[in-house]
Amino acid sequence: MSTSLRQAQLLPEPAEGSLRRAGGARLAVVPADFLLSLHLHLFERFADNSQDLLYRAGFDQGLQDMTRLVGELGEKFGRGTFDLWQADAKFILGTGRESLQQAGWGRCEFDCGALTRGVTLVTLENSPIAAALGRAEHPICHFLAGLFAGVMSFYERAERHATELECRSCGAGACRFLIAAGGEVDAAEGWRQQGVPAAEILRRLR
Ligand SMILES: [Zn+2]
Repeated sequence: MSTSLRQAQLLPEPAEGSLRRAGGARLAVVPADFLLSLHLHLFERFADNSQDLLYRAGFDQGLQDMTRLVGELGEKFGRGTFDLWQADAKFILGTGRESLQQAGWGRCEFDCGALTRGVTLVTLENSPIAAALGRAEHPICHFLAGLFAGVMSFYERAERHATELECRSCGAGACRFLIAAGGEVDAAEGWRQQGVPAAEILRRLR
């Protein structure tokens, strides 16, 4: 086993082409070409609806990841004593961030205090989707936007939506996502489509 896999506590299962986390959850190993061809085929088949499909797949993945994570934390700290909603936000989101990075989704930071309550900013370095798809005119990490919306919906026990304000594929240094209630996300997405810079969008939402 490579040092990096051992450090990440991932166990290779060559026969099924996957890795398993220390807790037993399965991870698929896919090359960047797979991500590229997945996006291209979905676009060929569903055109602009493919963005929504990717977003919803990410949303489900985010919910499942959090469900698994809470189960593992319950095993670790004792089901009777561990309560996610009483736990420290930094600890929970830090654990979630490590889990996402372990799964290959890049290094992300959750900032729940940058704006008003119920609004979270996520900055993601090294998006594997941006890396696989290359240059684009508009943000393209729809799966990851859904993933972060799913994570925050689970954590905040309220429906959260997400939009990608800036993307590495468009030349930004990192991908930045706004996660909030539907109205705020719709407004932010509308401004982004009009060409309003991310910093100005955030200023308007304060
Ligand atoms: Zn991106």
